[in-house]
Amino acid sequence: MGRIYNFSAGPATLPEAVLQEAAEEMLDYRGTGMSVMEMSHRSKAYETIHNEAIADLRELMNIPDNYKVLFLQGGASTQFAMIPMNLMKNRVADYIITGQWAKKAYKEAQLYGKANAIASSEDKMFTYIPDCSDLPISPDADYVYICQNNTVFGTKFHTLPNTKGKLLVADVSSCFLSEPIDVTKYGIVYGGVQKNVGPAGTVIVIIREDLITDDVLPGTPTMLRYKTHADSNSLYNTPPTYGIYICGKVFKWLKQRGGLTAMRDYNEKKAAILYDYLDHSQMFKGTVEKKDRSLMNVPFVTGNPDLDAKFIQEAKERGLENLKGYRTVGGMRASIYNAMPMDGVIALVEFMREFERRNG
Ligand SMILES: *Cc1c(COP(=O)(O)O)cnc(C)c1O
Repeated sequence: MGRIYNFSAGPATLPEAVLQEAAEEMLDYRGTGMSVMEMSHRSKAYETIHNEAIADLRELMNIPDNYKVLFLQGGASTQFAMIPMNLMKNRVADYIITGQWAKKAYKEAQLYGKANAIASSEDKMFTYIPDCSDLPISPDADYVYICQNNTVFGTKFHTLPNTKGKLLVADVSSCFLSEPIDVTKYGIVYGGVQKNVGPAGTVIVIIREDLITDDVLPGTPTMLRYKTHADSNSLYNTPPTYGIYICGKVFKWLKQRGGLTAMRDYNEKKAAILYDYLDHSQMFKGTVEKKDRSLMNVPFVTGNPDLDAKFIQEAKERGLENLKGYRTVGGMRASIYNAMPMDGVIALVEFMREFERRNG
């Protein structure tokens, strides 16, 4: 049995070359006689893995010197609390609600201060990105928060909001490293790596240095202070070593492929194959506004839940797996992250065409 095309939203498909290399190094990592997961996080071999991963990420994303890269734990969801605990000096923050992940972050921030929902697309089931060119930003807001790519609903901010000078904080979990971004536009950019970068359990935080202070909300635990991790190069306690090792391999894979500009071109071509088909199909329809479409998560429906179920089942029999939409949304969703090859998307569209012919 070979590998299937895995369209899961996360944990998601990883580059086969990376998995193969990790397999080869599993029992004896480069002559150390042990696996990376058995290795001290203070060892020379691990230190090299750790620092190369940071350096490669800095190079890939062109991260300026006044930003730190942190490898943390607790998934993206722990950041929902860590961000207000560390940044909410005035106990006010503005949230743009474009999906369930943004909403969860907004609700969590309410535990620490006044979180304002200054824009939302919930009125139309999160199928678009609201106009964010002139929002009622709170004068005393400590930051403005967005989820840049909405994994569940398949929308994406193609233009960043006008924060009127306030700090921008962005969850980029499901579009991490899918295209170049200008890091200087953000105070914090963060993402759980299990969508587009590596195994679950590691979260990467890129944070501007002046935001790393001891001036945090009273009672903030040591482990939830950015300063704790920044001061120790993410080695305050045992970091998720194996996860960081795999992320490091993915960074090298991305560099070999020409970096993030090349990835964006590839991702745009891949997504266009699927969207073009959806725009012409009589049976399958995309569910979000065209101008706000994600390059990574593509939801679609037939309009008939029984036909959706039949499609998902038959696709699975063809080796096209995990196409079921999010549990609260239904329909289908194809996640086509960096590691999904063009051939996977072509195979999906060919099957959709055939399914439509048979059932139309
Ligand atoms: C998956 C996801 C999360 C939650 O990640 P965990 O690591 O499970 O906490 C948060 N934000 C976005 C955009 C996601 O896609």
